[in-house]
Amino acid sequence: MKCTLIALVLSSAFATAGMAAPPTVEMTWMSIANWYFKIGDKRIVMDGYITRVPEAQFLASPVFPKDLYTFTKAAYGVDMPSITKVRDAMFGADKVDLLLVGHSHFDHSWDTPAWSRLTGAPMIGGASTCMQAAAQGVMGTQCRSVSGGEKISLGNGITMRVVRWNHSGDATNPIQHFARELYRPPVSDATGGLRAGVGEDYPNGGGNRAFLFTVDSAEGQLSFFVNNSASAFDLDKDIVVDGMSYGSPIGNLAAAMKDAGLTQVDAWIGTGGKPVAELVVPVIHTKSYIPSHWDGLFNSFWAGMPYPFKDDALLAYLDAQKVAFVAQKQYFDKFVLSRSGVAVAENHDVKSRLGFADAQRFSQSMLDAVAQVASTSVGDDCGEGFQAPSAWERMFASIDRQRGSSPISAP
Ligand SMILES: [Zn+2]
Repeated sequence: MKCTLIALVLSSAFATAGMAAPPTVEMTWMSIANWYFKIGDKRIVMDGYITRVPEAQFLASPVFPKDLYTFTKAAYGVDMPSITKVRDAMFGADKVDLLLVGHSHFDHSWDTPAWSRLTGAPMIGGASTCMQAAAQGVMGTQCRSVSGGEKISLGNGITMRVVRWNHSGDATNPIQHFARELYRPPVSDATGGLRAGVGEDYPNGGGNRAFLFTVDSAEGQLSFFVNNSASAFDLDKDIVVDGMSYGSPIGNLAAAMKDAGLTQVDAWIGTGGKPVAELVVPVIHTKSYIPSHWDGLFNSFWAGMPYPFKDDALLAYLDAQKVAFVAQKQYFDKFVLSRSGVAVAENHDVKSRLGFADAQRFSQSMLDAVAQVASTSVGDDCGEGFQAPSAWERMFASIDRQRGSSPISAP
């Protein structure tokens, strides 16, 4: 009897091993709105902005002073050594399959063409992103322009739906906020540099593209939604570019959910704090939330996470909605998606290759400052938080701004 039981257990184990392994979904945060998704054997990098264009390069619009990043003093280049170091630490000799760009601002699409040249992976983004890519030598089919509504099969049961989306801000910073595409590829200067301003070579690119992923696995379907900017100001208003309407972000998301046969997603990688969450959660009923694009725009990549995440209003809302919240503790934190949401996984080897501690260590003065404020997401979502100095920004400036100075000096 005992032998029979063992035989049954063994045959069951072999049967499991013989079946195709269900795709696992790993999501690694690489700072700002940079993500690496490993879905089964597919490797997808979103944005991949490692260069830090210095804050001192930028000039505000004289007409709209809250449009802080409209112009620049000079063209700026791509930090190829840093991108290469990150690629080597993350992938070694493994190939990258796809590069995604949410929108065409400098803090998102600046380095993606360099990743494409370095890895050979094709890009998917908006029309402006592909024009920026062309200006950096990534031509033709290596960049696919998407407008929203596309359903793209990536193989192995992985499907990505493109959701036309909007950008953070409102009518007080219209150059950054309202949807605008380039009309022609920008022209680099003699050094190969481009102008990072949102009123120059890096407009938002017709608002934004968000992505809804579904992954078929033996256990059922896994799903997640990712957006890399958002504004509650007009999330329900149509995106219009040169008289052409692309539907409203929230309507587009509802349509993508319906098309995918979903009433709930397992995870949302989101921006925009509570005001955006209040509009999006009722549509996607996410099981879990990971914040993105909350760590500022200009802090040194190589110093690691600049300060702890905190947003009391967002957390209270998510808690009331029974949405699990998972905050990052360091750049290159890895999360594993399952039917019950996300779990944190170790990523020690990659972090140590890049010189990062597993969890960022902060000074006591930093922790004391964090304890006194309701939110540290200054700079959340494309720098909106910098427009009205908060208590946190003042404290952050006095305590720890100096450690965030960029290792790349302005030309
Ligand atoms: Zn941004």
